[in-house]
Amino acid sequence: MALMITDECINCDVCEPECPNSAISQGAEIYEIDPNLCTECVGHYDEPQCQQVCPVDCIPFNPDVKESKEELMQKYMIISGKA
Ligand code: SF4
Ligand code: SF4
Repeated sequence: MALMITDECINCDVCEPECPNSAISQGAEIYEIDPNLCTECVGHYDEPQCQQVCPVDCIPFNPDVKESKEELMQKYMIISGKA
């Protein structure tokens, strides 16, 4: 399951540099997460780093993108060129 940023985002810029997969970028109005690049931080960290740093707690799991840990690890391997 990738993560998503809700419209409670205050554009504080804190999460973007924390993402090890460069999945976070500034969108038209608020920051956005590319579900094709988000691995829930699997392969890098035990916890989603963006969730840890967001001061307004507006980065929930995306219920529309369901993936197992194995699928997330496979995504990590492809993104990082190890697959
Ligand atoms: S959970 Fe990890 S990989 Fe996904 S957007 Fe947040 S920091 Fe990036
Ligand atoms: S840390 Fe939270 S409030 Fe700040 S830009 Fe990221 S999603 Fe928005």
